[in-house]
Amino acid sequence: MQSLSKRLPALLRAQGLQKRSLSTTSALFGAKLDASKVTVSTIESRKDYPSPEKLAFGKTFSDHMLLAEWTEKDGWKAPQIVPYGPLSLDPSASVFHYAFECFEGMKAFKTEDGSVRLFRPDMNGKRLNKSSARLALPTFDVEEFTKLIQKFVSLEKEVIPHRKGYSLYLRPTMIGTNAELGVKHPSKALLYVIASPVGPYYAGGFKAVRLQASTEAVRAWPGGVGDKKLGGNYAPTILPQIEAAKQGYDQVLWLFGPENYVTEAGTMNAFFVFKKDGKKELVTAPLDGTILEGVTRDSILALARERLNPDEWIVSERLYTMDEVAERAAKGEVVEAFGAGTAAIVSPIKEIGYKGKDIAIPLQADKGAGELTETVAKWISDIQYGVEKHPWSVEV
Ligand SMILES: *Cc1c(COP(=O)(O)O)cnc(C)c1O
Repeated sequence: MQSLSKRLPALLRAQGLQKRSLSTTSALFGAKLDASKVTVSTIESRKDYPSPEKLAFGKTFSDHMLLAEWTEKDGWKAPQIVPYGPLSLDPSASVFHYAFECFEGMKAFKTEDGSVRLFRPDMNGKRLNKSSARLALPTFDVEEFTKLIQKFVSLEKEVIPHRKGYSLYLRPTMIGTNAELGVKHPSKALLYVIASPVGPYYAGGFKAVRLQASTEAVRAWPGGVGDKKLGGNYAPTILPQIEAAKQGYDQVLWLFGPENYVTEAGTMNAFFVFKKDGKKELVTAPLDGTILEGVTRDSILALARERLNPDEWIVSERLYTMDEVAERAAKGEVVEAFGAGTAAIVSPIKEIGYKGKDIAIPLQADKGAGELTETVAKWISDIQYGVEKHPWSVEV
């Protein structure tokens, strides 16, 4: 048997480790996010809402908001639904200084029979957890998150316009609220959800966009955080966007690396259809860390793999470059292109400015969108509005 003096360092180490693991896991013993504990305090009478056709994206907010506070010491407090209004935060709160902020974008839809449905809310919950964990902010049980969203939306039901194309846009947000200037992990956080009734992105049918492929500003890079929905990823994209707009483009097409790999179109995932050996290939970039893991992207890929005839179609997640797009467009091999995201579902692309030239992308002249673009928009909207029964559509 070893003498005590020899065993002592090991014992101390073990004790130290134990202490450390106790203190790091103590957060795990803190209270979990618990939807059943939610308290509700409603306003007396609702405000006046603009008529549906006057709704501008994200400018009108519903009468309530959902809040859940977290502290390192105690974990999640009971969530609250309260009247919509300003938050009171210390000016030293970590969200203001080091951008401890991440968010989600999801929608609730009123279907023909009057029921209210969410589209794949678990995907948004999982993604918010990934973003939050990357910022050393707290995570939560996705099922509890979904239940809270359901509870909140059921309370705001009546402000969802009952018209095809309209919805309630939801903005779950997580921020660091600890009041101190030290650059460290937040010891306090707030999860909140606000809601905004919105109209169809394209009121009078599709409106195809012109993109400027950026060979200067870069949105995301391997090992970076472009695959997370962090507020800090978006502010730096506005100046390049303004420059592109000055030259008559609607959005920036973000490229990466000396190869000019195509990554994303504005705040949407980018899809191209190429002709290849008598087949068509639907292409989008792979989830290599430079691409936001779009719920719409994932849904389009899954439905395309399930519904497109494999004798005619190949569905690929692969790297592709802007030079491939340019060369194949010149050969007439680019069939169509679109961006994909929650706000618009799909946004047809009609032209891409690259190295001083404009590359034209075909559209069906009468529709303002490519054939597949139009098809996937219908697939998804039919599921969202309950026209097609599908497990992705979750009743509130
Ligand atoms: C949110 C977002 C998307 C689209 O994601 P969805 O889940 O489909 O809405 C794509 N790219 C970026 C950069 C985004 O922020």
